[in-house]
Amino acid sequence: MPTVMLAADGRKKTVSPTSEAAPTSAPGSPRSSAFPRVIAHLDLDAFFAAVEENRDPSLRGKPVIVGGGQRGVVATANYVARRYGVRSAMPIATARSLCPQGIFLPGDHDLYRDYSRRLMALLGTYSPLVEQVSLDEAYVDLTGTERLFGPPEGTARLIQRRVKEELELSISVGLATNKLVARWPPTTRSRPVSPWCRRAGRPSFWLLLPWNGCPGWAPLF
Ligand SMILES: [Mg+2]
Repeated sequence: MPTVMLAADGRKKTVSPTSEAAPTSAPGSPRSSAFPRVIAHLDLDAFFAAVEENRDPSLRGKPVIVGGGQRGVVATANYVARRYGVRSAMPIATARSLCPQGIFLPGDHDLYRDYSRRLMALLGTYSPLVEQVSLDEAYVDLTGTERLFGPPEGTARLIQRRVKEELELSISVGLATNKLVARWPPTTRSRPVSPWCRRAGRPSFWLLLPWNGCPGWAPLF
């Protein structure tokens, strides 16, 4: 049975099972040898705080810190608050001492879940293989989607653009041949606008990665 998917220009494309199964590039081409799988890691930037800024645009440009509750820790700080040293998982009391002028909000998890559902539905239009990691984070297997959407870097930019237009949120995208490297950001402190792309090859490749950005291993604050 043919499958209908959304193309890069927004139109629906019908794909037969045989064309879906076809290789996305000629054997031996740089694409097939250097990038056998295309894994995208997508992560909304300062998610809870960005949603709060959408709800109340007067918060933009001010230090916004979402958190508290039973755990008493920062769930998300926007990038203005991060300039004061506020970080996720930091005790709220510490955040208050670092940024006394900060706007502290308890959070609205029903609203965040609604945004999350919309994000995952959007990602599902690019691949049937979407692995949700958290409310604002997912891996998408883009292997074999070139015939529909073009090169993966362009697809990543398209997803970023649609998330900006439809959810009014900024999302970071890493592309690589596996999940670990796709999730490894260029730095731990900044978020690039453009998607980043890594093709793991020689062993020296690993030496160029920022060691303190290794997923699962980072200082708390
Ligand atoms: Mg995030």
